Amino acid sequence: MYYDDLTPYEYTHDEVWYDRSTGMHFLRYEPTYQRLNIGWLQADQPWTAAPAPEGFVSRLLAIIDAQDVNSMLGHHDCDLCSTPLPLSHPWYEPRPGHQRASANTSEIRVPANDNIAYAAPHLVGHYVTDHGYLPPQPFIDAVLAFDPHSPWPTHCPQIRFPWIPSQARLRFIDDDDLWNDHAGT
Ligand SMILES: [Zn+2]
Repeated sequence: MYYDDLTPYEYTHDEVWYDRSTGMHFLRYEPTYQRLNIGWLQADQPWTAAPAPEGFVSRLLAIIDAQDVNSMLGHHDCDLCSTPLPLSHPWYEPRPGHQRASANTSEIRVPANDNIAYAAPHLVGHYVTDHGYLPPQPFIDAVLAFDPHSPWPTHCPQIRFPWIPSQARLRFIDDDDLWNDHAGT
């Protein structure tokens, strides 16, 4: 799928975060922040290639490794690659950007000023490292300013994002939850 950079994110209404560190846990809530698209590239649409500022790539990949948002059934291949890289994981396992997977299902959220969170697919790590994609400067600034391992106060310490509503609670995924979760998105 393709979305212009900095357009409102409307792919899903709710936010669903996964914590796979202690089993298959997730939490879901209606966001109170505005979400803007970044890095939803497609081969037949224009995008910018340029060298990335120092520190940007490593920080972006750290965020991708730390976050797992709105993971969907199935996978999305990079269609900028002339020959997609082989799938090295089943769809439900995280695909960290530094492994340069060519397919992905999950997203990240990068908080910025004015109650904005940038919404990017995990594939943005592959686009930046393998295709030289340079996102818009506001996103670069937000990534450089955001440490996904900051010890901010939270009732869900494995969810690496500062704007989780206080009433949101982690739930364990059983078979029914998995079905209901994805069927409702
Ligand atoms: Zn690619």
